[in-house]
Amino acid sequence: MKTLRLILGDQLNHKHSWYKNDDADTLYFVVEMRQETDYTRHHIQKVVAFFEAMEAFVDWLRDQGKKVVYYKLDGKNNTQKLGTNIAALIEDRGIDKFEYQLPDEYRLDEQLRQLADDLSVETEAFDTEHFLTGRDELKEFFEGKKSLLMESFYRHMRRKHDVLMHKNGKPEGGKWNYDQSNRKKWKGKPDIPHEKGFRKDVRKTVKRIQDAGVKTIGKIDPLNFNWPTTRSDSLKVLRYFCDHLLVHFGDYQDAMDPEEVYLFHSRLSFAMNSKLLQPLEVIDTVIEHWEANKGDIEISQVEGFVRQILGWREYMRGIYWKEMPGYRRCNRLDNQRNLPDFYWSGDTQMNCLHHAIRNSLDHAYAHHIQRLMITGNFALLLGVHPDQVDAWYLGIYIDAIEWVEMPNTRGMSQFADGGLVATKPYVSSGSYIHKMSNYCEGCRYRVTEKTGEDACPFNSLYWNFLAEKREYFEGNQRMAMMLSTLDKMDSDQLAALQSHAREILRSPDRY
Ligand SMILES: Cc1cc2nc3c(=O)[nH]c(=O)nc-3n(C[C@H](O)[C@H](O)[C@H](O)COP(=O)(O)OP(=O)(O)OC[C@H]3O[C@@H](n4cnc5c(N)ncnc54)[C@H](O)[C@@H]3O)c2cc1C
Ligand code: SF4
Repeated sequence: MKTLRLILGDQLNHKHSWYKNDDADTLYFVVEMRQETDYTRHHIQKVVAFFEAMEAFVDWLRDQGKKVVYYKLDGKNNTQKLGTNIAALIEDRGIDKFEYQLPDEYRLDEQLRQLADDLSVETEAFDTEHFLTGRDELKEFFEGKKSLLMESFYRHMRRKHDVLMHKNGKPEGGKWNYDQSNRKKWKGKPDIPHEKGFRKDVRKTVKRIQDAGVKTIGKIDPLNFNWPTTRSDSLKVLRYFCDHLLVHFGDYQDAMDPEEVYLFHSRLSFAMNSKLLQPLEVIDTVIEHWEANKGDIEISQVEGFVRQILGWREYMRGIYWKEMPGYRRCNRLDNQRNLPDFYWSGDTQMNCLHHAIRNSLDHAYAHHIQRLMITGNFALLLGVHPDQVDAWYLGIYIDAIEWVEMPNTRGMSQFADGGLVATKPYVSSGSYIHKMSNYCEGCRYRVTEKTGEDACPFNSLYWNFLAEKREYFEGNQRMAMMLSTLDKMDSDQLAALQSHAREILRSPDRY
């Protein structure tokens, strides 16, 4: 039976059982398409990373002796749409059966289901064999429970997969979570090792994208492309993380610095989201390294890292599949303002935003706290419509795929789901940013001032947000302290803060 197997750009799993279960009549199909380059405006490095990774995966398949049809963006048979490409191949090659792996995005899931229904040949869908949970596992786990606390899901995952667990059923080190010790400010020491780079020449891929007229954002140095796009490079980044960065990962997980783009972060999200690396192999490698170096690496560094992958990553995917398709429309705080223009240029005098956005445009990267407490925080304080915030995050980051981008952005960062993911909104005044970073020292604004020309804009916006949304958050225990401070504030002081905030809201691009 002649079988056509589709491999999407984020399904580059070398360990998939497909590659052990095929024969001479199996034809693999990998395709670069305008439907994927154009569904949002992506960072140029993101498009390049996917195309490079797909090409390397095709090379690997061919090295294994597999038959592959590979359409590049400018291929003459490429119709640029999944449905028509597949229908034509089935016709031309006399295919009897079409097989695909379940996509992670709702958009593609619907498209492929519809396509499978329409095709006249037999079809079958397979798991991607990547995640540690099935699409509906989180939904089932929380069935009948009042809240969807990540922590309880995370503990369930630790037990289920026997990760960092003692034989007696207790967590390794005696505690489930070392979050409290993951909050140090980085003050120039310890030294941060240079990230593991690759200096790849990607000129051909960039030219192909530009010649096709694909509209992108951000910068690229085509002679020094720095992201891992093969399995062996991805494994090198993982090794580098274990050898040089893990030792301080947890301590400085929330720290920010204008000159340090990556600090002690792993830069593994693209490798995992494209499925070049499997989450369990990343976790196992890190734990093995820790076990061999227990005297040098504290458990808090390791647990902090494991929690991100075993906990947050699987949790976000579960929320996505539980809540879609309604999730993409939620806007519980009824935010309607526009994203400031400076999100696309970094041209703002607010030093923290300037650096977080410039990093994102230059490297297609910002670490979690920059995404949450700088760009996300400011957008929420402004009351930007979540559609616009989503579009920005979905485009700009190397790792941005909707299943993980949307619950993080709409849910965790913008509270648009009314508190499903985050139990309180992640908003802060300038003082949190000052506590966790070195941005304020070099800023035109003064973090200690609340009103007036030199006042840090985060300050008045923060109090204005609380005052405006007071009713909504009434009764939320995690907001009790913030609201009680608001209530104690002198009414003239609050009026002055809100008046200053209104000026910023009128024209944020002036700041
Ligand atoms: C507003 C916002 C949007 C985000 N959008 C994305 C996105 O589109 N794609 C994406 O992969 N991550 C997203 N994240 C989560 C996180 O910021 C990135 O995974 C991380 O910065 C990637 O860099 P790293 O590989 O160096 O991560 P590290 O800090 O080294 O963490 C290790 C790994 O843990 C996983 N991880 C950590 N935090 C999360 C999280 N909250 N959700 C899911 N996985 C997590 C990632 O796979 C990451 O590679 C977003 C976070 C926020 C606040
Ligand atoms: S003073 Fe305010 S705007 Fe400037 S860097 Fe600090 S927090 Fe950001």
